[in-house]
Amino acid sequence: MATIHMDVVVIGGGITGTSIAYALARRGVRNVLLLEQRMTAGNTTRGAFGIVRTYHASRVMVSVARRSLRLYEQFEDETGGTAAFTRTGLLVLVPAGEQEMLEANVGVATHLGSNIQLLSTSDDVRSVEPRIDLDGVAAVAYEPGAGYGDPVRTSAAFAIRARDLGAQIRQGIRILNLDTEGGAGNRRITGVLTDGGYVTTGCVVNAGGMWGPVVSEMVGVELPVLSYRYLGVVLRHPPTFGGAHPITLDLVNGAVMRPSGPRLTLVGPLGAVAEDVVPPGWDDPRTDASAAPEYQTVLRRRYAELATATVQAAWATSHDVSPDWYPMIGPVDGVEGYYCALGLGGYSFALAPAVGEMVARLITDEGSDGVVRPRRSEDLDPKSHAYFFRPDRFAGRSVHPQAAPPGAAGRSGAEISPGDRRKPRNTT
Ligand SMILES: Cc1cc2nc3c(=O)[nH]c(=O)nc-3n(C[C@H](O)[C@H](O)[C@H](O)COP(=O)(O)OP(=O)(O)OC[C@H]3O[C@@H](n4cnc5c(N)ncnc54)[C@H](O)[C@@H]3O)c2cc1C
Repeated sequence: MATIHMDVVVIGGGITGTSIAYALARRGVRNVLLLEQRMTAGNTTRGAFGIVRTYHASRVMVSVARRSLRLYEQFEDETGGTAAFTRTGLLVLVPAGEQEMLEANVGVATHLGSNIQLLSTSDDVRSVEPRIDLDGVAAVAYEPGAGYGDPVRTSAAFAIRARDLGAQIRQGIRILNLDTEGGAGNRRITGVLTDGGYVTTGCVVNAGGMWGPVVSEMVGVELPVLSYRYLGVVLRHPPTFGGAHPITLDLVNGAVMRPSGPRLTLVGPLGAVAEDVVPPGWDDPRTDASAAPEYQTVLRRRYAELATATVQAAWATSHDVSPDWYPMIGPVDGVEGYYCALGLGGYSFALAPAVGEMVARLITDEGSDGVVRPRRSEDLDPKSHAYFFRPDRFAGRSVHPQAAPPGAAGRSGAEISPGDRRKPRNTT
């Protein structure tokens, strides 16, 4: 790649970057270039659980998640590819003391049109999932339309459709530097140096996942994004168990259990702790297999018939989160034409289609057939979703790895958010 010009350069070929590239191309932006240093969906996206649901603590999150769910439902018609979306339903289980928050969240979500209900008796719960054990559970919510998709296939579908619409998707190309011109107060993006050549452009979207802060340093902007290490375990059911269970967010034991077809369950912690923080770009897929018995125990507590489930695989990965565990999406203050879509934590897959749309809207003029017009943070309408996610909301605030707000039920929507910062209790 010698020197070329592009209207927009998207950095990162995970679920976030591919969705943005697709949305830009679909909106008519002619020269979109996505650069990925490895291969698309080759990093965090590859190891994600892919849960999609609209149960959240914040009304903006519910709205954006609802939009995404709708887009996932139309995914094949829209992209010609597949997200491999499997509807399983989602149970949210909370302990005593968190019922009110669960009820409030369900109230907000239903008000906004989500199909989520409180299951008030254990018979109601068992009519959804007869094999579940409700030990320690004070209240349960159920979202029948929730499910999971395949993050790798979804990213591939976005990338292929983006390419069909005219975007260029380049893998194995690393961004080395971002150039700007202008002084403090009116700096703007002018180009991207890669190990494959130079790109002149006035617009860059940083969708670099856990490398996001490193990329941002290239323009001298510090973004308060942290990476947390995350362990996941795949357990194989005994043949007697029967079909798949619903996705289970177990806030009593601090774990998420997501079926994978009828015979497997993925189990991971709900929450994170400070010692899980890893450096940006941390990449060590080795995992401490000694954690697996904890997950077996957690699964057995909810599904006693899975007492003999065996560990099929265990892996470690990491994901990027913002200080309040909500995404940071939009124009970054201080450098015109510089956008980010980072810190999506446990929501990236669920929100990806809507995030792509949001970023594309923020970069182009409404109804302009793809004319690129970078915005500044101060241009955002305070009533818009984009304002809620604006990256500069942390400006001037001190940031700490444990700065996530409490409220387990409120946070239970994030499969791997810190919420109550609980991990599966060590019961071995
Ligand atoms: C175990 C686990 C379970 C999860 N479960 C869920 C879930 O159930 N539901 C949900 O919604 N979300 C879930 N998530 C979150 C989510 O799916 C991931 O965080 C998400 O896939 C991240 O996507 P991304 O595109 O933002 O980042 P990534 O997939 O990491 O992509 C960023 C890309 O940028 C590239 N890059 C970085 N720097 C450069 C550079 N200088 N030059 C070129 N390329 C660069 C990287 O190579 C990388 O491929 C989970 C995450 C984990 C870890």
